[in-house]
Amino acid sequence: MAKKVLLKLSASPVKSSKRFIISVNTMRINKDDQVLVLIGINNGKKSRVISVDRKKSKVTVEGVNVVHKHVRRSRRNPQGGRLSMEKPIAISNVQLICPFCSQPTRVGFRFDKEGVKYRVCKKCKADINIVSHAKKKITK
Ligand SMILES: [Zn+2]
Repeated sequence: MAKKVLLKLSASPVKSSKRFIISVNTMRINKDDQVLVLIGINNGKKSRVISVDRKKSKVTVEGVNVVHKHVRRSRRNPQGGRLSMEKPIAISNVQLICPFCSQPTRVGFRFDKEGVKYRVCKKCKADINIVSHAKKKITK
């Protein structure tokens, strides 16, 4: 009997600590935005955003942080050789170029009366795009 009890005890899983839900902020920089790069060899370069990683808050920018990978000949690349690919950089190292005033700016957010969320250029105060449409009626 004692053995059985022991087995049961060991089999019972340890209560896992509560999972914290990480809220993913709305990104200030989206795909296909024009951005100014602030670090590295490409400091001051203007380029296009290829992809955005929301969880790691990183962006991949065209022609920035290019890494060369040496690849052996294989079935996938029968040629082999040097592959060049962009690696993601931290979102804080790029600055959005406003499509309206074409200046590197900070990005803000704004709600209108109906609760529609806009991405706003901090310099010229123009709405860059709509982030989310109104879901609930905001009383006030
Ligand atoms: Zn602007």
